[in-house]
Amino acid sequence: MIPSVLPTYNRAPLTFVKGEGAWMIEADGRRFLDLGAGIAVNVLGHANPVLVEALTDQANTLWHVSNLYNISQQEALADKLVDATFADTVFFTNSGTEACELAVKMARKYWYEKGQPEKVEIIGFDGAFHGRSSAGIAAAGGDKLTKGFGPLLPGFKHLTWGDVAAVNDAITPETAAVIVEPVQGEGGIRPMDDGDLQELAHICKENDVLLILDEVQCGVGRTGKLFAHEWAGVEPDIMMVAKGIGGGFPLGAVLATEEAASGMTAGTHGSTYGGNPLACAVGCAVMDTVATPAFLEDVNRKAGLFRQKLEGLVATYPDLFEEVRGTGLMLGLKCYTANMDVVNAGYDNQVVTVPAADNVVRLLPPLNITEDEISEAVQRLEKAAAQVAAKQD
Ligand SMILES: *Cc1c(COP(=O)(O)O)cnc(C)c1O
Repeated sequence: MIPSVLPTYNRAPLTFVKGEGAWMIEADGRRFLDLGAGIAVNVLGHANPVLVEALTDQANTLWHVSNLYNISQQEALADKLVDATFADTVFFTNSGTEACELAVKMARKYWYEKGQPEKVEIIGFDGAFHGRSSAGIAAAGGDKLTKGFGPLLPGFKHLTWGDVAAVNDAITPETAAVIVEPVQGEGGIRPMDDGDLQELAHICKENDVLLILDEVQCGVGRTGKLFAHEWAGVEPDIMMVAKGIGGGFPLGAVLATEEAASGMTAGTHGSTYGGNPLACAVGCAVMDTVATPAFLEDVNRKAGLFRQKLEGLVATYPDLFEEVRGTGLMLGLKCYTANMDVVNAGYDNQVVTVPAADNVVRLLPPLNITEDEISEAVQRLEKAAAQVAAKQD
């Protein structure tokens, strides 16, 4: 019999009932160190008092009001994002998928309004993930996401990950945009080289093609900059944000330059819930905390420590692990052994990690995880690795 919850997930047999900082408490009372953070969502940990206060204050004041009216929390968050980034304007969504929908619509509408309606094609890369909507799966491509779901939204093509030189050849007079994650998350923590991202931005500019960056997973302080593309010193035309920006409350956004957004006039797009007062009150609190030099410096310092310890783990278990990859607190263990064996052994040792494609175990802790917790997490990962290794002997 089908479960009452549609079984689209292979769920681990764990039920977390409470969270505190970087810890999650299981129904049976066991305490797990959280190196998943709800897949890069809980950037400030669980039950963060600052976020709880922002949410409860707002909940006691006003939950929902239509976008037919001004929403001051939304304006405040948009101002913060515009101040802190390349962007001139922001549209709020409830998820990364919805951000993808608008990014695609915005890019196409831009060229339509410029009198070049033939420019509709969007170039992406394999291994990408842009969400589960019809545009999201078409943008990412690949059988795993698209098979069986009927005719795909047309106008997407895909290149080999990292093959930036191929973009030149793939661009045609019909090309509207290139979409790329500066660090692929679901694809297995695969960062694009700074040089490649610079080259890509250059190619886009030269060829009158918009650059859409998907920073849904790698954004909001995750890599040690507020947004990952800042490492390369490039600027997109359009950027998708979600996951971390709400710190655990559903919130996404599309950031854009004034030029790229110029086709999106009144009536061309909308959302009932997008940018509601609750989400934006929390988003403001997240930005006030994360978008400060001191916070980001701390992320970089802890990332260095975490990485060093993980390199030690890889050196101790060279038969299990190939390498540590990633940037900031967006790290991956590339495995020789099956990544799920490591994830499951982690559960046995009360440390939560997240599998990714390319046989990688993802490590995406809350950005405010402490040094002691990082040490504890790596000790637990060592025990998990020992358990996997023992099984193989
Ligand atoms: C998670 C993710 C999405 C989709 O976000 P949802 O909030 O799950 O809709 C899109 N792009 C990237 C890079 C992601 O990691």
